[in-house]
Amino acid sequence: MWSKRDLIDYSLDRRATLVSLRRGSVSALDACDADPYLKRAAEYHGEITKRECPICKKLNIRELRYAFGDQLGQYSGRIKSLAELDEMQNEYGEFRVYTVEICLDCGWNHLIYSYLLGDGVARKAPRKSHTMEDDDWGHLTGAARPDGRVKAWYMPSEGKRR
Ligand SMILES: [Zn+2]
Repeated sequence: MWSKRDLIDYSLDRRATLVSLRRGSVSALDACDADPYLKRAAEYHGEITKRECPICKKLNIRELRYAFGDQLGQYSGRIKSLAELDEMQNEYGEFRVYTVEICLDCGWNHLIYSYLLGDGVARKAPRKSHTMEDDDWGHLTGAARPDGRVKAWYMPSEGKRR
């Protein structure tokens, strides 16, 4: 990722969630609420990690990456692999990648970090076109759909940047 910049680390938020969990002000049901779509996406598209789940201690944490940006047009908010992101940084001026960890066992999920990619050259969003991905959207990338099934931080609002 040669163009990686403006990294935001969410480990403090993550720790705060874990502390609230231990204190009982957040229930495990709320913290481990990965729905079947998210778990499935993590299983098929997620990168395998060697991290231990902070809740169930199993080594079944996967990382998913979502790309958001005006220049991505209809493709904003989709799950992207590292290889795809590598190509995209030469094709778009700027977009933000959000990395989320998901435990396939207990359903723990949290944002870990985000960063900007892109070559810095402003481009117009691609014209909307129907793709094969649209047909698969429902079951493959359902986690990123703006339909209320996802936590607020999957759908960051534009302009909230620091
Ligand atoms: Zn777990």
